[in-house]
Amino acid sequence: MRLSRFPLATAKETPADAEVVSHQLMQRAGFIRKLGSGLYTWMPIGLRVLRNIERIVREEMNRAGAVELLMPSIQPAELWQQSGRWAQMGAEMLRLKDRHGNDFCYGPTHEEVIVHHVKQDVRSYKQLPVNYYQIQTKFRDERRPRFGVMRAREFLMKDAYSFHVDEAGLAAEYEGMRAAYTRVFERLGIDYRIVQADAGNIGGNRSEEFHVLAGSGEDLLAVSDSGPYAANVEAATCAASGPRPAATAAMSEVATPGQKTCEQVSAFLEVPLTGKVKLLVLRTATGELCAVALRGDHQLNEVKAARHPAIGPGFRLADPEEVSTVFGCEVGYLGPVRSPIPVIADHAAAAVADFVCGANRNDHHLQGANWGRDCAEPEVADLRNVVEGDPSPDGVGQIRFYRGIEGGHIFQLGRKYTEAMGLTVLDEQGQSLVPWMGCYGIGVSRLAAAIIEQRHDAQGMVWPVSVAPFSVILCPIGLDKSEAVREAATALYEGLLAAGVDVALDDRGLRPGAMFADAELIGIPLRVTIGDKALADQQFEFKRRDAAEAERIPATLDAVLERLRA
Ligand code: ATP
Ligand code: MG
Repeated sequence: MRLSRFPLATAKETPADAEVVSHQLMQRAGFIRKLGSGLYTWMPIGLRVLRNIERIVREEMNRAGAVELLMPSIQPAELWQQSGRWAQMGAEMLRLKDRHGNDFCYGPTHEEVIVHHVKQDVRSYKQLPVNYYQIQTKFRDERRPRFGVMRAREFLMKDAYSFHVDEAGLAAEYEGMRAAYTRVFERLGIDYRIVQADAGNIGGNRSEEFHVLAGSGEDLLAVSDSGPYAANVEAATCAASGPRPAATAAMSEVATPGQKTCEQVSAFLEVPLTGKVKLLVLRTATGELCAVALRGDHQLNEVKAARHPAIGPGFRLADPEEVSTVFGCEVGYLGPVRSPIPVIADHAAAAVADFVCGANRNDHHLQGANWGRDCAEPEVADLRNVVEGDPSPDGVGQIRFYRGIEGGHIFQLGRKYTEAMGLTVLDEQGQSLVPWMGCYGIGVSRLAAAIIEQRHDAQGMVWPVSVAPFSVILCPIGLDKSEAVREAATALYEGLLAAGVDVALDDRGLRPGAMFADAELIGIPLRVTIGDKALADQQFEFKRRDAAEAERIPATLDAVLERLRA
């Protein structure tokens, strides 16, 4: 590509509204342009990267035996009514009506559509297994679109859906997809972790996420410092706490005027946070109040709470007014002793003896309280977030936290959708069976940003050759003045093109400093500078984007090709 014909719009200034480095660089390098909240145009230079990621994903999906198709982004509501998700999906799903008043959505995902097609086309076990995939635009009306294409409203996803006669077939395909994803992430040149995940509202059983490790990541990952355990904190189980020590103190009430938070109370009474038990009051979706006891230094894990049968999905923190009506005190003074409603305790809270807790009386706390003596033994469950330093639940090592960007997610869905939508096929005996289903997503557009989060320096992006917008850029110095430079640059450019190299020729007539700054900002992995001085010695100057120094190489096509292959 001759850059004189290629619209590039780079900027020196960091855009004010871009919080993370990838968003800043993508704006500055003219990769993307914002059209509205969470809506971005991929400009030509950015699109080259997006297409490269897409190509790698497509190659690995094909290699793993998945087959590509393309479904519409607009989907009829009937399908979502069949699966039950039309009512379940919240405001993230964009709903629309056509001119006849029929309901549609802009697809946030495609389980319903693919099950519908498989229902029409697949009748016999002989047609299974099958794994369909597409690379297609999704819309999710995210609560907080941010970080550019990292959390957009419209974005590009690769989504795949597999169908199997039995659970073992699904498990085997899941392993195949896991291996394919591993190859994709390796080829993208990023540092990633596979972590256990919560299956979310999509349902199902086994599920793992592929996370790009980056400080700006929105997800917190719990990873063992010496074993294989790795999970999204949302899904990370906490190792059971050891047995509770015997009670040694007598319970007494102390005045704690104005001391409401665990931190305040622990400082005021000079007890560690780990010796405090706090009570959260939840309002379940069915309208019940439910109290959860946690150790003072722990946080409620909402995913685990939503899974607990007494709490369930759709719960919220009860309003202070409803709490004080039932407990007769402000929220800062709640405790399990004489609680008017049953208490479910997290393992760690249930393992504390002689604890401090609210007295269910304003401006008062209890000291030396004990489960089973001063209040009933609570029902015990795993309800908290893991914290750093916790033992790993598999017993190997301690938990450390990392931040990650979710780049991919694989699920064993089981038969949730196939059952709900009435998909059956005939087995060998002519009996009808409900197939098992898996689904596998990759955030193609998000990955472009995630790679930049990991691979950049003060000058700009540092792409691996596999996804770079161009593999190599030629920077001729004094193109308009020097016949020798013009000839050498043109010959090299044409030679590289003929050799199938994805090469850019910077023939815009810019000063060297401006050319180099653009090449570095855009992150082209290799640069060849063609100037009179070096040409006089029959040499080019060659520089890798990630190397500190340039080197002189012979001014021949072969010498350049040799460096490209290295
Ligand atoms: P997140 O928790 O980040 O919202 P998700 O769990 O909703 O993601 P999936 O439904 O598993 O995501 O979608 C598959 C992939 O699509 C994700 O792994 C992610 O890479 C990508 N993705 C999801 N939401 C967005 C978004 N708003 N913008 C860009 N990519 C996204
Ligand atoms: Mg989401």
